[in-house]
Amino acid sequence: SSSTPLVVNGRSYSFAKKCVASQEQIFEKIDAIAANIAIDYAGKATAENPLILICVLKGAYLFTADLARALADKGVPNVVEFMCVSSYGKYTVSSGEVRMLLDLRNSISKRHCLIVEDILDSARTLDFLYKVFMTRGPASLRTCVLLDKPEGRKLPFVAHYRCFEIANEFVVGYGLDYAEMYRDLRDIVVLKPEVYSPKTASEMHKVPDSKL
Ligand code: 5GP
Ligand code: MG
Ligand code: MG
Repeated sequence: SSSTPLVVNGRSYSFAKKCVASQEQIFEKIDAIAANIAIDYAGKATAENPLILICVLKGAYLFTADLARALADKGVPNVVEFMCVSSYGKYTVSSGEVRMLLDLRNSISKRHCLIVEDILDSARTLDFLYKVFMTRGPASLRTCVLLDKPEGRKLPFVAHYRCFEIANEFVVGYGLDYAEMYRDLRDIVVLKPEVYSPKTASEMHKVPDSKL
């Protein structure tokens, strides 16, 4: 109910109704994925030619930070580069158009690259990024996603690495936002419906019924 807070391993959220992945589960998965990446890049990612983690801002910033450290634990030399694409903005429905807002600072030619993204949903974002970065002649290019929503696919796309498969519902926390809020949560949660409160009728039509 609206007055009952969600409690996740002692962390209390008054605005959330369900936990999709706890911090503890996230760390466990990242460790497992880092182990797989360590096997796949053995002899490829070296101190002289470290794996480039391409962090897609803003949503993947915490995931990238934890993945980078898990990879270091497993002995995978890596460096991080940042880029930014247009996001969902204030609303929970994708506009369907992807724009590059901030590009990589350095060349990725002849480098092993791993795109690190928060969510694979329609796949418009990753399909766009994959094609753009492939034109730049990387030694290899793979994708790693924290969350996969297979039901949301508009384009066929399979991520090389993924932590969690989830249902088609809007989630926040651990880097993921709703109107720039909730990125700082340790856990990934679903908000209570009353959190989505459009102020005007014109805003109203942009929020799907299921979110009201
Ligand atoms: P796609 O291009 O695959 O449809 O969308 C992926 C992007 O949409 C993600 O990188 C993420 O920024 C945003 N997105 C998709 N689903 C969610 C969600 O449940 N919560 C949040 N906060 N963002 C989402
Ligand atoms: Mg994203
Ligand atoms: Mg967003």
